[in-house]
Amino acid sequence: MKMLVLGIDGADWKFIIPLIQQGKLPNLKKLRDSGASGPLLTQKPPMSPVVWTTIMTGKVREKHNIINFYSNSGDLNSYRIWDILNKNGIPSGTMSHLLTNPPDEKLLFQIPGWMSTTSLTVPEEYSIFKEWERKKKIPRNIIWILKNLSLRSIFALLKFRKNIKTKHKHPLYYLADEMVKGDIFKRLVKRFKPQFSSIMFYGTDFMSHKYIHQVFPDRFTPELLKKLGDCPNYIEQMYMLVDKKIGEILKLFPLDKTNFIAVSDHGFNPAMPEKAFKYRLKGRPFISVIGKKKIKDFAVLGYVLNVFAEKKILEKLMQEIDAVTITENGKKLFKCTMQEDKLLVEFKTEFMTITSDINKMHFKFRNKEIPINRIVGQVKRPGTHAKHGIFIASGPIFKQGYKFKEAGIQDVTPTILHSFGLPVGKDMDGKVLTEIFKDEFISNNPVKFIDTHDSDFKKKELKEKTDMKELKKRLEELGYI
Ligand SMILES: [Zn+2]
Repeated sequence: MKMLVLGIDGADWKFIIPLIQQGKLPNLKKLRDSGASGPLLTQKPPMSPVVWTTIMTGKVREKHNIINFYSNSGDLNSYRIWDILNKNGIPSGTMSHLLTNPPDEKLLFQIPGWMSTTSLTVPEEYSIFKEWERKKKIPRNIIWILKNLSLRSIFALLKFRKNIKTKHKHPLYYLADEMVKGDIFKRLVKRFKPQFSSIMFYGTDFMSHKYIHQVFPDRFTPELLKKLGDCPNYIEQMYMLVDKKIGEILKLFPLDKTNFIAVSDHGFNPAMPEKAFKYRLKGRPFISVIGKKKIKDFAVLGYVLNVFAEKKILEKLMQEIDAVTITENGKKLFKCTMQEDKLLVEFKTEFMTITSDINKMHFKFRNKEIPINRIVGQVKRPGTHAKHGIFIASGPIFKQGYKFKEAGIQDVTPTILHSFGLPVGKDMDGKVLTEIFKDEFISNNPVKFIDTHDSDFKKKELKEKTDMKELKKRLEELGYI
């Protein structure tokens, strides 16, 4: 029996069901109607690398050790489902999963996801795809293009290039990327015939963050809608594109011999108005304001800045920064917390509503009047992560048209293991979703256990460090920092 796992980042039933009803997602409808489905509860913090690693290990983040966007595959403490299957004789391949850099030669294929800052792929010839994904370099190798891409993907790439200077650049990039990715995955499946394979789509997350106001306009004030601006319904376009790619991929698998899973890491909600335009600290300019000479290092995540320096310097800085107020309204601008070797500078956002114009605000630091917009930027993110994603399991061993109430992200890996007749690790936090299997399958195949699948696990030693500048640039594009 084969298995295909479709990862759709941020997919949410409240987008999918109306689109299914309008006949716009025929393939997701087919999977849902023919299988068991329901909401999948995520865990805090609902950050993609953390949650996807829980989905693929069956373990909570304290165990798998991927804690945020700055974790890398060298931090991993556990095998993921494709490693377990592969070492149990089930040839596997993955496309665009996070933290799969460097790719594993033992797998049939492994093309790392968007957090990778190298172009390494297994097999090597797909580094052209990573060059496109990382640097937006449109492939120029005609033979490669003709071998791997459909006409539609080529058109999508050209459309992106034509709009490179417009505000549509990013959405068109994500649309083209998912199309190209789908084509390459199809090619890999045809070539290697994996028994287990998985592809990740991320465009749904990007679009939902930025354009959710197109789907739920009544959740925003007219003023905010005006500020967010008008644009095509990119969320619908992205869901339809992913559905179409799923349809093409499904055709490569024999329906009577394949189990399919579609899963997301969290859902989406419209943000509270005051969060739709999130303020963020600009790290480098802030450091130059406070004087960079004595600072060892810094890192910024959203509105929190970590400053590393000697304790004495930090203590002095803390006093200075804590005392800063906004010239125009006298309110405090920062909150500081001291931790062993670092100072956390939290930027207070609550006094800035969508109506206050930060371009006219100042603060005083060491007797200098400084415009706030020098150290603070605004990110338009009307959509935020919600706690329920989606889960569908369809195929010969799963119930047809069954709706479950709720499952958890940690249940996915145990459920996949069981569907291959493999034991569940007792060190996993999830359970087999026995209710979604056909009764005869469960009675013939009781759930088995093993202490751990990780007895021979070794932490990866990374030869190459993540290029933080490149990763931060990508996180910025996605609106995370
Ligand atoms: Zn997101």
